[in-house]
Amino acid sequence: MQGVGFRPFIYRLAVQNALRGFIRNTSSGVLIEVQGIPEVLENFCQSIKTESPPLAKIEAIELFTIACVAEDGFVIGDSTTGSEVETLIPPDIALCSDCHRELFDPSDRRFRYPFINCTNCGPRYTIVERLPYDRPYTSMHGFTMCPECEKEYHDPLDRRFHAQPNACPVCGPALSLHDSSGKSCNVKDAASEALLLLKSGNIVALKGLGGFHLAVNARNDEAVQRLRMRKGREAKPFAVMMRDIAVVEQFCELSEGESDAVQAAEAPIVLLKKKQIDGLAPSVSPGNDRLGVMLPYSPLHLLLFDEELDVLVMTSANFSEEPIVNENDEALLRLHGIADAFLLHNRPIYLKCDDSVTIHLSGQLRQIRRSRGYVPAPVLLRLNGPVVLGTGGELKNTITLLKGSHALMSQHIGDMKNYESYRHYQHVAAHIQHLFQATPELIVHDLHPGYMTTDWAFQQGIPVLGVQHHHAHLVSCLAENKEEGPAIGLILDGTGFGIDRTIWGGEVLIGDEAGATRFASLESMPLPGGDAAVMHPWRAALGYLSRSFSTIPDLPFLKGRNSKPVLELLQKRVGVYETSSCGRLFDAIAALSGIKGEITYEGEAAIALMQAAVGKIGTASFRYAFQQDKELWIMKVSPIVQDAVTAVQQGISVGEISRRFHRALVNCFMDIISKASEATGITTVVLSGGVFQNALLFDTLVCELQTAGLRVLSHALVPSNDGGLSLGQAVIGRSYLAGRYRGCS
Ligand code: ZN
Ligand code: ZN
Ligand code: FE
Repeated sequence: MQGVGFRPFIYRLAVQNALRGFIRNTSSGVLIEVQGIPEVLENFCQSIKTESPPLAKIEAIELFTIACVAEDGFVIGDSTTGSEVETLIPPDIALCSDCHRELFDPSDRRFRYPFINCTNCGPRYTIVERLPYDRPYTSMHGFTMCPECEKEYHDPLDRRFHAQPNACPVCGPALSLHDSSGKSCNVKDAASEALLLLKSGNIVALKGLGGFHLAVNARNDEAVQRLRMRKGREAKPFAVMMRDIAVVEQFCELSEGESDAVQAAEAPIVLLKKKQIDGLAPSVSPGNDRLGVMLPYSPLHLLLFDEELDVLVMTSANFSEEPIVNENDEALLRLHGIADAFLLHNRPIYLKCDDSVTIHLSGQLRQIRRSRGYVPAPVLLRLNGPVVLGTGGELKNTITLLKGSHALMSQHIGDMKNYESYRHYQHVAAHIQHLFQATPELIVHDLHPGYMTTDWAFQQGIPVLGVQHHHAHLVSCLAENKEEGPAIGLILDGTGFGIDRTIWGGEVLIGDEAGATRFASLESMPLPGGDAAVMHPWRAALGYLSRSFSTIPDLPFLKGRNSKPVLELLQKRVGVYETSSCGRLFDAIAALSGIKGEITYEGEAAIALMQAAVGKIGTASFRYAFQQDKELWIMKVSPIVQDAVTAVQQGISVGEISRRFHRALVNCFMDIISKASEATGITTVVLSGGVFQNALLFDTLVCELQTAGLRVLSHALVPSNDGGLSLGQAVIGRSYLAGRYRGCS
């Protein structure tokens, strides 16, 4: 990668060891030639492995011995322009410890400068307009370095050697504070003023690295509720930014892995278990045993905390699932009426990028939303191949471009349901192809004919291939694990277009990138109103009840609901979709047990149902059954629904209902996987799909599958939800180009 301080690091190392030679970038990697005595050379090689700058990710080191030639000192050679190495742009990286120290050192010339950075930290991906990655082609082009900054920039021994965003208060970007109407407030220190506003309960819109955030004191419940009301966000948990790791420890349980993740240079939001949340506003993350936490990752953030203010709600400034707002004028316009003040700056954000969201499960950090800090670092593939682009699906969209052995995944683009997202999508799709200088031979899209991304694929004038949604999930997981397969894929999610034109979502697919066979599926259930039922779990519950009972039992959750028109739809079979979705099964059980009948964001009912189990899965189980329909095994859901109803009628607690439900699913999946393994001899199991964000189900299944002697592949680098779809699509595309694609059957 360029701009990560690797060449100056090698330079310093060589000079320290009095080695002679050179370093330069070539099309196949970095080439270092050194001569010196063997022990010193050995130390040198060792130091490369252990002391490289944090952003330099070394994929492999190869060593050759050549004859000595006369050489003078050590030099940094010119790069071969346009080479592959040259084109890898690093992600945006959290403030490093050196810059952190300087930021708070009154004698430093960058004391309290909100844009301090160096080769080891700062913005990258979000400020690059085009290649090569050089200051004139970044959003820093409007700022001419002062002599002091210039000197640092050209000195190989300086921490800011070739740091493209290098700046200082004299020559670099500056903050400005504006009131709720957008009028500029004439203040000397905008950050200190913003801090005061936050302390007194104001909502501040602030321009960060990849877009705008809305910030509010997370200890002030009235203020947090005001933010919810103004933003139209009723219940979806807010992420918080905590001043330092000590504050995180005070509120959350923190394993070693979680502690590392929170403090990593990528600075993601980590979903941590709450420990004691006294003092935190209850409306920050209601009804959830986890809290999304990140640390300040830009110098500006650090200036918004002090002794008294230690936790801020820090939420993307967007409207529901639209992309994050990025420019000053747009922010002033669209956040008018929400923010009490605006903390702006004059360094343009070229590419919007949300905060990444992760969770530490079963011993690994797992991506839920892979964005800032990770993008555009490549996911390494098992094999080389032609350039292919995967469009992603409809929800939690990302784009993946395969180039060589790299899968270049875009940031989280969001839900492709509005024009804003579509525009952002077009921008990212064009940008990613330009940035990596690759034009796809094939574009792979989802089979769903109604997706915007499918339309987009057809408009590009490039050959296209439609692949089945859950097949793409399966291959996404194989690909990130560098596995060839075949594997038994247990794919559980909300919605995916099936080859029989029904909605799938509880599938056992066996296969690899060249094709997959549907071995088993959850029993199909009628979903009245189709997608409209997603936000109304009680309607899904009626559908599930109508198929599980001859007369619908009268349950408390139906009280006060206008169920008649829904029942009519079901009876006449008008606007009713058949679905084997696991997500909808969670919704139905959550609704009929009285946990959640209506939701305000996707997955809310399923989360509430899982929370009800309080981290335990238990031994008692609802009944389930299998039925064979020709080649396909049906995992019968109706006995589960019937038992859940009986439990409700017997007054069994929602916690116990949830535990029995989870136990039924785990047992059912264990049984079907063992059938699949017996039938095929395959012992590798892939777990993919958004339902695996359910920590209880995921942890239990992983543990029991491994105990049963099976090998489990799961997602870590790439989201298990639809954010990982584009990777699977693109990899399937390569098998198509190689003439091996059989499709899904
Ligand atoms: Zn730094
Ligand atoms: Zn300067
Ligand atoms: Fe999916």
